[in-house]
Amino acid sequence: MLDCAIIGGGPAGLTAGLYTTRGGLKNVTLFELGLPGGQITQSSEIENYPGFFDHTKTGMQFMDSWQEQCFHFGLKHEMKKVERVAKTGEHFTITLEGGSTVEAKTVVVATGSTPKRAGFKGEDEFFGRGVSTCATCDGFFYKGKPVAVLGGGDTALEEAFYLSNICSEVYVIHRRDSFRAAPSTVDRVKRKDNIHLITNAVIEEVYGGVMGVDGVKYNQEGETKELAVPGLFVFVGHNVNNSVLKDENGSFICDVNDWGEVIVNLSMKTSVEGLFAAGDMRIEAPKQVVAAAGDGATAALQVIAYLQEQA
Ligand code: FAD
Ligand code: NAP
Repeated sequence: MLDCAIIGGGPAGLTAGLYTTRGGLKNVTLFELGLPGGQITQSSEIENYPGFFDHTKTGMQFMDSWQEQCFHFGLKHEMKKVERVAKTGEHFTITLEGGSTVEAKTVVVATGSTPKRAGFKGEDEFFGRGVSTCATCDGFFYKGKPVAVLGGGDTALEEAFYLSNICSEVYVIHRRDSFRAAPSTVDRVKRKDNIHLITNAVIEEVYGGVMGVDGVKYNQEGETKELAVPGLFVFVGHNVNNSVLKDENGSFICDVNDWGEVIVNLSMKTSVEGLFAAGDMRIEAPKQVVAAAGDGATAALQVIAYLQEQA
């Protein structure tokens, strides 16, 4: 029986692992379907995590030292996808991919979110062959070539900036004429000569052939226009990864809001005793690494307090 099962190895889950084990819990396992690190490993940079101010480091490099520190105090890691969490009596049963189960006294769910698709023609067909959601992973393939970016949030503009240092031209296509991204990021992008903002524009289609993408058709204020680009980066937000909290009938085992975000209080407690949620998947998450880490610490301290109360 685990003292605590942590599901998800992003900043929230890793921090929960650090705090539970350093706080004295002996039997804590973090279940992560891939390598720990979370979404930020897709980012080309991070400049708003206090104490870390190195523009030359990618999100992947930033998370390297987290793993070393978070596993130092005895946290175990299983590279397994969790299918489902269920409360059976006082304890939890965690069902892993393949059907095996693990019992735990408490659970911290920190499964974050995944990039959304925008839904235009050709997006799925060319995904991985010219359409991407990761500039750090795929930007280099377009070195010296023009690319397009879809979206007007922080991710779209930061990744457009990253791409502008690799690609010849970067065309940012956004459906409105104002941006959701931080004003400082918008200013920085506007100052970059090879970034071109195309506003009030909606992508109709990405087209190409066997070799990949040849271009993008978009509609700007009623007129269809084309951009000849071999790469299109889509940054239109994220979906909440909440499927582990659904029972066999598809109902959530704890309270969630209309968008599927888990409802927690300031202690990261869900509506189910012993079940905590942390990071980007919870209501009103600032969706920042520093906030996800804070959530993980808060949840871990509450796990320790909860187990002490039960003893
Ligand atoms: P995540 O980082 O999403 O981690 C969740 C983990 O759970 C993932 O590793 C996933 O594989 C795992 N998982 C999911 N489902 C399962 C399952 N069923 N079983 C097992 N494991 C599972 N924030 C900043 O503060 N500054 C920035 O500069 C910044 N830049 C960003 C740039 C990009 C491109 C992106 C995408 C995000 C950026 N963010 C930034 C936001 C930041 O990355 C997130 O807020 C943060 O990673 C959230 O942490 P998390 O632990 O809640 O979730
Ligand atoms: P986001 O803030 O939700 O922005 C998504 C963008 O995509 C919006 O501009 C939206 O347009 C557009 N969009 C959505 N659906 C679309 C569609 N179907 N077709 C075309 N455009 C579409 O998502 P994000 O940029 O990924 O950021 C997610 C969170 O992470 C945010 O809270 C953000 O602040 C945070 N983040 C922070 C940093 C940082 O602090 N440095 C970096 C990256 C991310 P509208 O604006 O018209 O809705």
